[in-house]
Amino acid sequence: MNSTDIVELAYKILSKYSLCDYCLGRQFATLGYGINNMERGKALKTIILMNAHRLMKENVEEGLERLRVLSTSGFTPATKLLENLGYDKPDQKQCFICEGYLDRVRFRDISLKAIHELSEYEFNNFLVGVRIPTHIREREDIVRSEYMITTGEDIKEDITREISRFIQKELGKTIEYKTPEIVIIVDVFSEIYEIQVNPLFIYGRYRKLRKDIPQTPWYCRECWGRGCVKCNYTGREYPESISELIGNPAVEIFEAIDFKFHGAGREDVDAIVLGSGRPFVLELKHPRKRFIDLKILEEKINHEAAGKIEVSELRYSSRKELRLLKTSSPIVSKTYEAIVEFEKDVDDEALSKIISGMNNIVIEQWTPTRVLKRRVDKLRKKKLYNIKAEKVDSRTVKFTIKAQGGLYVKELIDGDGGRTKPSIMELLENKPVKIQLAILEVERLETLSESERRDEEENS
Ligand SMILES: [Zn+2]
Ligand SMILES: [Zn+2]
Repeated sequence: MNSTDIVELAYKILSKYSLCDYCLGRQFATLGYGINNMERGKALKTIILMNAHRLMKENVEEGLERLRVLSTSGFTPATKLLENLGYDKPDQKQCFICEGYLDRVRFRDISLKAIHELSEYEFNNFLVGVRIPTHIREREDIVRSEYMITTGEDIKEDITREISRFIQKELGKTIEYKTPEIVIIVDVFSEIYEIQVNPLFIYGRYRKLRKDIPQTPWYCRECWGRGCVKCNYTGREYPESISELIGNPAVEIFEAIDFKFHGAGREDVDAIVLGSGRPFVLELKHPRKRFIDLKILEEKINHEAAGKIEVSELRYSSRKELRLLKTSSPIVSKTYEAIVEFEKDVDDEALSKIISGMNNIVIEQWTPTRVLKRRVDKLRKKKLYNIKAEKVDSRTVKFTIKAQGGLYVKELIDGDGGRTKPSIMELLENKPVKIQLAILEVERLETLSESERRDEEENS
């Protein structure tokens, strides 16, 4: 293809389909760089005009025909030239593809409306999404296939880029493709826009200082929330929940419309949570504020829920981290069965002492000797939840051991030469000679259900 072919092709298209500068230029969008489609269209029409003007001197009819085609498509220089030469101007035709909707003034108007609405929101970045009606696409397809155009650009990309640039200039904020805080969906054809405010994520840890507060609202078992005599018409089994104690103050501060609480697992309602606390991610829906110092939120929660819960380590998070929190689901606890044969007879009294003394205690373990070659030597502190014991014979005991994931159970039994403390051997003062281990149960952090997971995917 040589250069005249592009111009001739453009003219051929125009002589059948009246196109605006924009829609004509878009058919040649992959040619040239640093110019926009409107400029491409205008340039093509300008050359056609210059050629037509020259042609008038040799072949008036042909030149005139070309000027009329250009004028019909709304190209003002052609209309002016016709008038100057003393000819009537032809009727103007709407652009075959966009019907004249693709126009900078319209882009500007709709963008400004969206920007105005956004002034109520705090955000750092955004993304523009554009809706193109099917009939517009279909008409572009007609032109593309009829002239076998391979240099065109998708109309959606074209308009998205134009509007993004305009909004970016006005707002001075970044365009974010992966995780935008705000999505502005624009339909320039129906002049409708929509603002999608994406959720805000806050990571933190909670300690639960008092029993009888469930993690999420616990509805009355009789009425399922409608209210009945049994629940004193509250609809609830417990009046409060950890999620509400954390979520409600956050909704208020961030001017969000709702929240979703995601805990890294959950404890029993009658258990308390101490230590560094349980991680969670709070998802705030449709927040108007995003630039809040999280110390303010932390103070508000801890003040309002004083004596009940306490949050710490609050920081801004992401959907990605939420997904990790939900799907990596570390093992919370493992329950083992260990049949242990000891060197000497097992003393019943000593055994029952162990059982009562080894409830909810922390076991300190240096990396077991048997794995030292592969693992770095370090001290681990893991929780032992409980031990049950049942004598099989005078020297053999069947233990049921429930412990935090990661606790080395064999070493808990034999003490690993003093590297695990305390140990059953140490407390029983009896050396195990044979240990048979079996895992009875593995408890993992709750994971998302299939449908929730799908929702998560679709939202991102
Ligand atoms: Zn057009
Ligand atoms: Zn009830």
